[in-house]
Amino acid sequence: MVKINENFLSMKKNYLFIEIAKRVKAFSQAHPDADIIRMGIGDVTLPIAPAAVEAMKKAADEMGVKETFRGYEDSGAGYDFLKEAVAKYYKSFGANVKADEIRINDGAKADCGNIVDIFGDDNVVMITDPAYPVYVDTNLMNGRKVIYADSTEGNGFAAMPDDSVHADIIYLCSPNNPTGSVYTKEQLKKWVDYANKNGSVIIFDAAYEAFISEPDLPRSIFQIDGARTCAIEMCSLSKTAGFTGMRCGYTVIPEELKVTASDGSEVYLAQLWGRRQGSKFNGVSYPVQRAAEAIFTDEGQKQIKVNIDYYRENARIIASTLDEMGIYYTGGKNSPYIWLKCPGGLGSWEFFDKLLAEANVVGTPGEGFGKNGEGYFRLTAFGDRERTKQAMERFKALKF
Ligand code: PLP
Repeated sequence: MVKINENFLSMKKNYLFIEIAKRVKAFSQAHPDADIIRMGIGDVTLPIAPAAVEAMKKAADEMGVKETFRGYEDSGAGYDFLKEAVAKYYKSFGANVKADEIRINDGAKADCGNIVDIFGDDNVVMITDPAYPVYVDTNLMNGRKVIYADSTEGNGFAAMPDDSVHADIIYLCSPNNPTGSVYTKEQLKKWVDYANKNGSVIIFDAAYEAFISEPDLPRSIFQIDGARTCAIEMCSLSKTAGFTGMRCGYTVIPEELKVTASDGSEVYLAQLWGRRQGSKFNGVSYPVQRAAEAIFTDEGQKQIKVNIDYYRENARIIASTLDEMGIYYTGGKNSPYIWLKCPGGLGSWEFFDKLLAEANVVGTPGEGFGKNGEGYFRLTAFGDRERTKQAMERFKALKF
């Protein structure tokens, strides 16, 4: 008889967004005239940049002509034109990454989840809490031991390494989803030193790097000395360039990143990952890669900056409302997420219900991202400007 992967049975039900949808539906049915503003889900709302649209149209035309048609891409790792554009982009903020160290993918979520294939199941995995749920779920699916590094008000929701605790694989996300906190270079250096000392690998999720506006904050872990011997970085065009419906991202594994196998041989992780991807992934479509390439041109960068600035202004409006109300929060400045302490000592879901009932605004209860999220709440800046302003006016009118 077939046997299932029993690890799934011990996983928490993926109830967060289902529960939110259920509560919103019940509220709308009871109050059909309520004008609900959604500030919960982390999808973007602005369209992709004109430069990307043009590049995709041109590529679609090429696909319809025998001489320029493209079938399978040879390596499945991404066309050179895009890998070179990404490497140049890294260079622009001081991270030295070679085009051959980059693999193009269909978004960071898949790689965040799939990278675990190259690691043994007996590794101890450290995940900051709260965190993007993919890190925890994909490791639990394989039965790995997961331990948590606490992100709390005490450390500004930026967990730091503890030398007395050993971890083999470490997930870091900066700017962070859900807390919006951003590691400084000094803080990241501590993680890099910890990883090099313990023989650990850091999986660094930089999906929100484009939201960093302060030049001293690192946009890539490869701006930190020592990262090339301990880190893998994942990035995405989803939030940077509105590619959530296009699907394109990239993973960087430095050529010197290696581990020692049980037979004493040295194994390069880029080779293992290449082997894994070669077996299970056939590359990203040509038109999408051309659109992605256009994002890295001067024109594309100018165009996406307009959208990012729009979201940044939304974030500023939310943050200044919380400042005015004296509510503690992280994020909002170098991140599209604002992570606030539920006012009046309310729990995450209590605050969710109050906000929905009294302000008709939907956010995300922090508890859904880990135990340290209880009592906190995530708002996103990806909405419409007028609706964000309206939501904040309603927020200010709340009584606790
Ligand atoms: N990493 C983080 C922290 C995210 O918040 C998201 C999306 O919300 C992703 C990765 C995945 O993005 P995508 O698969 O759209 O590239």
